[in-house]
Amino acid sequence: MFPNINRRLAPVLCLLAVVFLTSTPGQALEAITDRIVVLTFDDSVKSHYTVVRPILKKHGFGATFFITEGWDFATNKEHYMTWEQIAELHRDGFEIGNHTRDHKGLNAKNPEALKKQLAQLPEQLEAINRRCEEHGIPRPVSYAYPGNGTHPDAYPILKAAGIKFARRGGAPEFEYTEGKGFAYEPGADHPLLLPTAGDARPAWEFKDFKRAVDQAKFGRISILQFHGVPDIAHPWVATKKEEFEKFMAYLFENHFKVIALRDLEKYVDPDAIPENPEAIIKERQKAVADGKLEPYFKSLATEGEGPPGFPNTLAAKTAALLKLMPIVDLQLKTPEDVELRKGIVYGRGSGRELELDLYTPRKEKEKPVPGLIFIHGGAWRGGKRSDYHYYGVKFAEAGYVVATISYRLLKEAPFPAAVEDAKCAVRWMRSHAAELGVDPDRIGVAGGSAGGHLAMMLGFSSDVPELEGNGGHAGISSRVQAVVNLYGPADLTTPFGIHSRLVKDFLGGRTFDQAPEVYRQASPLSHLTPDDPPVFIIHGTIDDTVPIAQADLLANRLQELEIPFRYDRLEGWPHALDIAKVTNDRVRKAMLEFFAEHLGQ
Ligand SMILES: [Zn+2]
Repeated sequence: MFPNINRRLAPVLCLLAVVFLTSTPGQALEAITDRIVVLTFDDSVKSHYTVVRPILKKHGFGATFFITEGWDFATNKEHYMTWEQIAELHRDGFEIGNHTRDHKGLNAKNPEALKKQLAQLPEQLEAINRRCEEHGIPRPVSYAYPGNGTHPDAYPILKAAGIKFARRGGAPEFEYTEGKGFAYEPGADHPLLLPTAGDARPAWEFKDFKRAVDQAKFGRISILQFHGVPDIAHPWVATKKEEFEKFMAYLFENHFKVIALRDLEKYVDPDAIPENPEAIIKERQKAVADGKLEPYFKSLATEGEGPPGFPNTLAAKTAALLKLMPIVDLQLKTPEDVELRKGIVYGRGSGRELELDLYTPRKEKEKPVPGLIFIHGGAWRGGKRSDYHYYGVKFAEAGYVVATISYRLLKEAPFPAAVEDAKCAVRWMRSHAAELGVDPDRIGVAGGSAGGHLAMMLGFSSDVPELEGNGGHAGISSRVQAVVNLYGPADLTTPFGIHSRLVKDFLGGRTFDQAPEVYRQASPLSHLTPDDPPVFIIHGTIDDTVPIAQADLLANRLQELEIPFRYDRLEGWPHALDIAKVTNDRVRKAMLEFFAEHLGQ
């Protein structure tokens, strides 16, 4: 493949090729990694300037200061910042957010009074906007509901005023007095109704703070709300300086990414509105009432801690380049005890033959063995079946009959061609089971990235006849009995899928708005039903090609439907993580256990 390049360097180049080929071009959203925290400070308190500012600057943290001219802001400059100090916060790089001129909430019980509050909102916002303009501060794009009183009729008003993100308190899931809340779940929470994960109070202890920030994982982002440090004018929400320093030191020492509210735009699309923003709030209220908070605070990961990872993909790539991270031998010599037959035709697609490579243990088999199908990745547009030569050899050595398949890539035909071809390969293996020495009732599938997506489609959509295609072996079931999904996308109807150019290309150039039903049809998750086979998910938390949230979403659904699953959630590992020897060894061993358990080898 790289004739002029040193053989030892070739695998590294392959890794880079895999990582680059599968990276989304354009202004794709960044992956929501664990430990992202948004800091917000309300009410223009003097100590934001005198105490908070130097501490945040020391750590290099971002933050949003929500400015209001409420109470005696105009005259009491002992307790409230001056506009010049606010402008300096902006010049320091912090965000200035809008908290209304008079700290006007939307909390009236009486509908007439509420109507009046809503009617006043535009001028309340505009007054702060004008002040910002006077002081060279950009027009705020973030808003905090004063007194945390919210109302859906405020959304169009906020939108019209240029607000992209609006923060509420921890209520209604928790009582205001508790200062507790849930982390923001992108995709489920409305961008103009972002929950506070923790609202600091004088009685707050370190564990209360930790409870709030430790929710910042599994695709969730913790938004914290502080008032003064200290807060002389509002002592019921004050934080002591020593406490605050301890909190910030914890974030710093544990490598949290600490950002302003406006920075959310790097991770989420503020225009992607969940279908029913009330649903997530109801779900959490029920969890609080039932005392079942585990799904929010505990990982669904099942495999325990993995090998030490990296802070980001670039660091992992650099380690590979510098040979600090050994890579698996992709050109592994086929051993004596494995028979490799290349280029077997398994079906037809777009008028041509579809091929696979077959790895069979040479040892005489007493009885049929399980069959495995491996599906390579490459963003549905690249990659080749020999990318999985290594797995072919290793699993044949372990006694399986293994096929690595080629399928139509999107330059030849878009979705559902690749799905049809993968299904055809299963039908081929099942119809040739006797001659292959395969037990037709024990066929497993594994794939990485786009291949993981196809593996899941095999697992979850065997009951969708319109996805079978007509590549051959009609009338034979394409159902599989076990699925391994290595960092594949499970739900293309999420903001990740909707905004990915690769996904759009894969679906024939159609946007979600043009063809939502195609996005659903192409999403493994939308086909998942309780009778589907066991799944093993392997995904790295710093994956910036397919976000870890995709795996978390899948694990959540599998748990809800009570489908057996394993989940190796590898902290600090990027996309294509199994190219590293240390993770490949771990993952292969776990896959062998998984197949042994569910296919009985
Ligand atoms: Zn306030």
